Order: sequence, then structure tokens, then C-alpha cells
Amino acid sequence: MIINKIREEIEASRIQLLHSLNFEQTLIQVTLCIPTRARIKESIQDVIFFDAISKLTGHLTEFNPATFNNSKLNKCHYIRVNATPEKIKSLTLSLEKSSLWATLWDIDVFDNKGNKISRKMLGEQPRKCLCCSEPAKLCAALSSHTGIELENAVMKLIIKQ
Ligand SMILES: [Zn+2]
Repeated sequence: MIINKIREEIEASRIQLLHSLNFEQTLIQVTLCIPTRARIKESIQDVIFFDAISKLTGHLTEFNPATFNNSKLNKCHYIRVNATPEKIKSLTLSLEKSSLWATLWDIDVFDNKGNKISRKMLGEQPRKCLCCSEPAKLCAALSSHTGIELENAVMKLIIKQ
């Protein structure tokens, strides 16, 4: 499946789930933020992804989590919880900082109107590039790093983990 097709599929699944939220629920979307140009083995990515799911669900038990999986999506997982989006976002931000490879987790949080809760709303800096200290979005837009550089940066986090 090409990247755009995957993005469309993720978007469609999310919209469908957002419609099912009641006013006190929050939707969590878990993916990985490994750049596609860093060619990391699928089996390694699976380990990192399922570690994210297991750590996250372990921290969500008190919020009555319900998980959703779209079989068409590879490594994209949804969890609906009974908690405010701000509370969940601060929890996921601390989880993303909890270990080296946790920086490869991309945990997005949406309120019941479909708004994504940004890092900025919680006074956090934007996600940093894996290779340098610039914001990740900037380096991605400028293609600042080669595939090999990105791959090495990712592998370093995995090996040191
Ligand atoms: Zn960079």
C-alpha cells in the first residue's frame, strides 16, 4: 500500500471512531514515527510498536480503555478512554519520554470533537528531529538528512534501549 493510501485509511478509521465518542471520552491513536526513508526491519518495528501498546494500556486501566484495530492498517491502534484529553496527553507525553525507543512512538490524542491535542497546548516543545536538535517537522520538510543518517539515528536508539 502506498503511503497516501495508508494515511487516508488511518484518517477514515479515526473519523469513524471519533463519531462514537461521548462528551467525556478521548481517543488515542498509536503509530510509530520512524521515517520511511530509514529502512528499519518490519520485525523490529513490530517489537517497538507492541511495546508502546502494552506500556500505554498498562497506564490506562483506570480510564476504562476500549481498543480498536483496523486489520487494513499496519501498526495503527486506537484506544478510547473515559478521561479528559489533557490528562491523557500529559500521560502519553511522559510515556514518550520514558525510554530511548519511546521517542519513536507517535501517540496522538483527540478530544470528542476531533481536535488533536498538541504538545504546545501543554507547554511542550515540538517533537525533535532524531538526527539533530531542530524540530522534526522542519527537517522532514527540508529532507535535511539522508535515509542512512535517519536509519543510523533510529538504530542507535534501539541498540541502546
Ligand atoms: Zn534534523
